[in-house]
Amino acid sequence: MKELNPHPDFLPQLTACFAQPAAENPTVAMVEAAYEHHGLHFRYITCEVSPENLEAAVNGAKAMGWAGFNCSLPHKVEIIKYLDELGESAQLIGAVNTVVKQGDKWIGENTDGKGFVQALKEIVNPVNKHVTLFGAGGAARAIAVELALAGASLITIVNRSKERAEKVVELLNKKTETKAVYHPWTNEYAVETTTDIVINATSIGLYPNINEQLPIDFNSIKTNMLVADCIPNPPKTHLIQTAMAKNCKTIDGLKMLVNQGVIGIKHWTGTDVEPAIIHSALKKALNIKD
Ligand code: NDP
Repeated sequence: MKELNPHPDFLPQLTACFAQPAAENPTVAMVEAAYEHHGLHFRYITCEVSPENLEAAVNGAKAMGWAGFNCSLPHKVEIIKYLDELGESAQLIGAVNTVVKQGDKWIGENTDGKGFVQALKEIVNPVNKHVTLFGAGGAARAIAVELALAGASLITIVNRSKERAEKVVELLNKKTETKAVYHPWTNEYAVETTTDIVINATSIGLYPNINEQLPIDFNSIKTNMLVADCIPNPPKTHLIQTAMAKNCKTIDGLKMLVNQGVIGIKHWTGTDVEPAIIHSALKKALNIKD
């Protein structure tokens, strides 16, 4: 007969995601798979939290002594007023997607760009690189700040709306050592020949609009450029496929998302989890085939 554990522990540490809408958020699948694989006595739940209930939800997490939680849309900015401190990039970006309990304090971090830069550093050192970044929304802003903190020399922001792009350009030029410039997005935008790293941080190509293409001159993408796309589903976007056909090095959005999971779990549990476990859990959850 199997021996009973003399000291069972029925109290896992709790982590969660606060979002609205929450049902489409796949984070639970990747985080729970990692907890289970590594035998971590933690759980992760997805919570539908409206803006009016954010304060109550945060107070609940604090009252129950959770290890932390993710904040997705629409809470990434509003959450800041309920936290004690912010990490360096979260402060610059002005948005938080990961909250971590450290002692008595609740710290806000932003992993949106960290996941990308971690993937990038496995292939190329961003120091002194020229980056052409399509997009100026939340993901683009986070990636731009992390690239600046990682030492990129020049970031060219190409975006449809000028106003949004100029806010990111101003932030980088005022608060970091990196030079940033705005380029209007006219049809068939040609990537400058000095570019080392090309990144799509727009939502073009996201499921179900999988055939959507960036309005750029694809002949301007050269083999020596590293090409990245934030779109996690499908990971092989038109941009990534085009870059692969030109023998460019590539980073897809699934890899970025996996790294975000690894970084968040490290914050909450102190454990370095296997990216491969998260990767296959996400692929299964999103029904992504090779
Ligand atoms: P936002 O809504 O904040 O920004 C969207 C961006 O896409 C804006 O720059 C917008 O331009 C641009 N855009 C949208 N449609 C078009 C179009 N038809 N033509 C030109 N530009 C367009 O979204 P996020 O920044 O939060 O997210 C962007 C994408 O990144 C999403 O698809 C998301 O899934 C992905 N993402 C992936 C992550 C990962 O870990 N892999 C992490 C976070 C996000 P404009 O300003 O002109 O409206």
